[in-house]
Amino acid sequence: MFPTSSSELGRVARRGELAASLAEVRARVGAACAAAGRPVGDVTLVAVTKTRPASDVRLLAGLGVTDFGENRDQEAAPKAAECADLAIRWHFVGQLQANKAGHVARYAHVVHSVDRIRLVRSLGRAVRVGDRAAEDAVPRDLTCLVQVSVDGDPARGGVPPGGVREVAEAIEAEPGLALGGVMAVAPLGMEPASAFAVLGECSAVVRLVRPGAAIISAGMSADLEPAIAAGATHIRIGTALLGARRPPVL
Ligand SMILES: *Cc1c(COP(=O)(O)O)cnc(C)c1O
Repeated sequence: MFPTSSSELGRVARRGELAASLAEVRARVGAACAAAGRPVGDVTLVAVTKTRPASDVRLLAGLGVTDFGENRDQEAAPKAAECADLAIRWHFVGQLQANKAGHVARYAHVVHSVDRIRLVRSLGRAVRVGDRAAEDAVPRDLTCLVQVSVDGDPARGGVPPGGVREVAEAIEAEPGLALGGVMAVAPLGMEPASAFAVLGECSAVVRLVRPGAAIISAGMSADLEPAIAAGATHIRIGTALLGARRPPVL
């Protein structure tokens, strides 16, 4: 069938771009898994679609991507609503204010950025009193990852390694939340392999609290290989899949 309008032509062209970059990312993941002696099925690709339109989510879902990440509620909520007919999971990966917890809990399957007790309480309350239980689209419990600041600098969010256990225990004790594992962003100026080694140690601490909490969310476009070598189960990929980000929508 021939495309019949310019918007249809644009859609077909964009689909081709996304298919090509997805193939490249999948090849990198395959090579990194082979090098690490891990099955590719161990690694979930989370497509970080921040600043990109819902149409890109739809195209990637059509290409087989099932997990999507966003870092701002103002942008994520309408995008999730536009894509409510798709069988996909939403991952919230950005810094989260406690007063936004209720909103994020409506559409998120996984929150990667839980780094303080107050946020644990807000998320738990939001899940228990919110619309979440009424929605079929999201599971009853909200999976939460402890975001770790591997160098101890709180600037980009995250609890220092010494505080990981306390946050993990709070999530484990909070009704409505499921302790899923750990997440980190490799700090600038630190070798990614060293950063992800510290995260691996934090993962071991979290698994003392809950043995099944085995998610390790690590690795972005530039450092997915060392993340997979260090045991990442979830990689969060933006630019390598979707191209340069658009200016922030305010
Ligand atoms: C934007 C973002 C990503 C994706 O980064 P890329 O370098 O574009 O792949 C991953 N994780 C978090 C927390 C992000 O904010």
